[in-house]
Amino acid sequence: MTRGRRSNDWGFPRWRSYEGATGAPKALRRCDRDGCDRPGTCPAPKAPDRPERWWFCEVHAAEYNRGWNYFAALDAAGAEAAEAEAARAAGSYRRAAHWAWSEGDGTRSRAEMDALRVLELPPDADEETVKAAFRRLAKIHHPDLNPGDPEAEARFRAAQAAYAVLTEAVAARRRG
Ligand SMILES: [Zn+2]
Repeated sequence: MTRGRRSNDWGFPRWRSYEGATGAPKALRRCDRDGCDRPGTCPAPKAPDRPERWWFCEVHAAEYNRGWNYFAALDAAGAEAAEAEAARAAGSYRRAAHWAWSEGDGTRSRAEMDALRVLELPPDADEETVKAAFRRLAKIHHPDLNPGDPEAEARFRAAQAAYAVLTEAVAARRRG
């Protein structure tokens, strides 16, 4: 089934790199994820072969692409399946209806729950577990070990952003 593309199993769309995004808006743009105040720096296609883009922070870009798996759909059953998958994804990411993101558990915010998922951790992961998971992912996806690999770079940045979300939240709670 696979045609030798390296990242099929992960399904990360090849969004424009930071460096290549010369047309990107200079003004600070918020992440398109409802309720997220982080800068929206990662463009993600709303549908295959369409120019419309979401702009997500690294955490939510990783979440979005994990849920979508656009390239996997293309490879599995061709363009028709990809269209259906895109329509389904677009529904999931519309602001109002059927939002599939976690809603927090009363002690952790939605952003924290999403960050935990980016780090491949359960909702009740403690600080040490978070730190270990971040170190593990950062090592695997570090740009120095994956030169010229935009997927690795995106995953590395997502892990960094997720870790920042979680450590900021812990610090804020400590401050009371
Ligand atoms: Zn976000």
